[in-house]
Amino acid sequence: MRNLKDYLMLTDKGYSDLKKAIAACTITNLSLMLPFVVTIQLFVELLKPLMGQEISWMNMWILLGAGVIGAIIVFLANKYDYKKTYVTSYLEAETTRISVAEHIRKLPMSFFNTKGISDLTTNIMADVTTSEHVLSHVIPQLCANAISITIVCTALAIFDWRMALAIFFTVPLALIVIYGSKKIQNRLSEKVVVAKLKASDQVQEYLDGIKVIKACGLSGSKFSALDDALRTMKKMAIKMEFGTGVFVTGAQMLLQAGIGVTVFVGTYLLTGGQIALIPLLMFFVIVVRIYGPILVEFALLPELFHHRTATRRMRTLMTTPIMEGSTQKKLTRWNIDFENVSFSYNAQNPKEDMVIKKMTASIPSNAITALVGPSGSGKSTVSRLIARFWDVNEGTVKVGGVDVKTLDPEHLMSYMSFVFQDVVLFNDTVYNNIRIGNMDATEEEVMAAAKAACCDEFVSNLPCGYQTMLGENGCTLSGGERQRISIARALLKNAPIVLLDEATASLDPENEALIQQAISQLIAGKTVIVIAHRLRTVAGADKIIVLNEGKLVEEGTHKALIKTKGLYEKMYRIQQESLGWSVGKP
Ligand code: ADP
Repeated sequence: MRNLKDYLMLTDKGYSDLKKAIAACTITNLSLMLPFVVTIQLFVELLKPLMGQEISWMNMWILLGAGVIGAIIVFLANKYDYKKTYVTSYLEAETTRISVAEHIRKLPMSFFNTKGISDLTTNIMADVTTSEHVLSHVIPQLCANAISITIVCTALAIFDWRMALAIFFTVPLALIVIYGSKKIQNRLSEKVVVAKLKASDQVQEYLDGIKVIKACGLSGSKFSALDDALRTMKKMAIKMEFGTGVFVTGAQMLLQAGIGVTVFVGTYLLTGGQIALIPLLMFFVIVVRIYGPILVEFALLPELFHHRTATRRMRTLMTTPIMEGSTQKKLTRWNIDFENVSFSYNAQNPKEDMVIKKMTASIPSNAITALVGPSGSGKSTVSRLIARFWDVNEGTVKVGGVDVKTLDPEHLMSYMSFVFQDVVLFNDTVYNNIRIGNMDATEEEVMAAAKAACCDEFVSNLPCGYQTMLGENGCTLSGGERQRISIARALLKNAPIVLLDEATASLDPENEALIQQAISQLIAGKTVIVIAHRLRTVAGADKIIVLNEGKLVEEGTHKALIKTKGLYEKMYRIQQESLGWSVGKP
């Protein structure tokens, strides 16, 4: 039974609840036998005139009373059973979903490079739903039925072993058919999961790109990809249902052949005078009744096989190592050092695709350091390595002299604020979206941060001010407004290190001025790392690090780098010249 816990990936509580659910289901099954036993007894009583005996009305009343009591017991047992199976399995599903979500949160970003969102959504939703269904509808019933069938089988064998053998003779044969098909069923269910994942990927891509699809008139080709994926999913689902149906129906037919065997053996024994008529009739009634739960067992077994696919996927996810580290180490200094760092996004073959190559650099504390370089040179990657979104392949990244690999990522994150170009907003109020920066902040602090980030003016124009609900990912706000909310968050967090992806790249002058004002509030007195796309905005930085193809090629102040006449000076010159271009008639 210990293995059942691991096999089903249950928590201790889930496992103990499952045992109670099996017990509850068994009680229900046994209680359901009461009306059956009463009916048999009534049957025997009513057949008495056939044997030349009189019906005992006293017995009939007793049986009626027993029937009523039996019905009450069945009702109470069912109620207990419902609570123990359904309620507890939903509770277990909730706990599992939370622990899967927690685990996913702690996984390294490299993991998300190999797994899509729909795959992970399937892990949290569909796979857990499969387990929930198996816990509530399959295992308790399967075990309880097996227990009650064994009890009935033993009782019948004691009464007449030859008839019991005739009744249960076909059960192992039918079981062989079901178990024999296990491999095929597993293969089919894996194919269904793959088809479902592909379809949900396509649905997501279709919905994400709906604007582009409309704008580019791609509806035909994009829709046909979705259509194909949905058609394959339907085909695979029908194939699986058919595959399961063939084996289950085959096993059920084989089992029901037992009715014929029972009638044949019974008649043979009756004609040989080895069994009386009433017990024989009783066996005939029982054979029809007892096959009901066995047929249910056969229908439930394939569900258990299919569940294996879901647990295997869950096990793979839950055994993927999380990023570990100390949550206790307190950082007191904010200088950042890259020591001979090499990094590749390709976890399988890192040597092939090094994005950062043997980089050594130091970022001073309480100063502004700009990362510049051509597109794809590794600026964003450097900022992600500082925040330990990824772990380096070689060398060390240190914050305040401490290797970030030894720090718990969430603990490290508590020392950092981010302002990126793609701001993530939640489908919640403006107020709550800002408060995410510091959940312990008071209302005054949230308002002060919003004001300092120049959010006040546009928020006051929203229908319910700070209590206005933002659409999914803040789709109702402009790019500049979203960025100001993210700056307000960072201000509220008040972390000593600020990572800025030059946020003003694609903004109109009014928004740009407001954002510049908000940013200057944010970075005052902090260790700031700016990923700069436009060099004129970083001319005032305390230090400029120039990257090219993942290597540090120059570093120094704007003045010094201009003098060097290297890559920085060239990029600066080109950008200055391009400032002069305009769209218009020649
Ligand atoms: P920059 O910020 O200078 O434009 P990046 O750090 O974003 O450059 O990218 C450096 C290189 O790493 C590029 O070749 C880019 O294609 C690659 N890269 C960036 N992000 C990922 C990722 N998540 N997975 C794989 N490769 C990536």
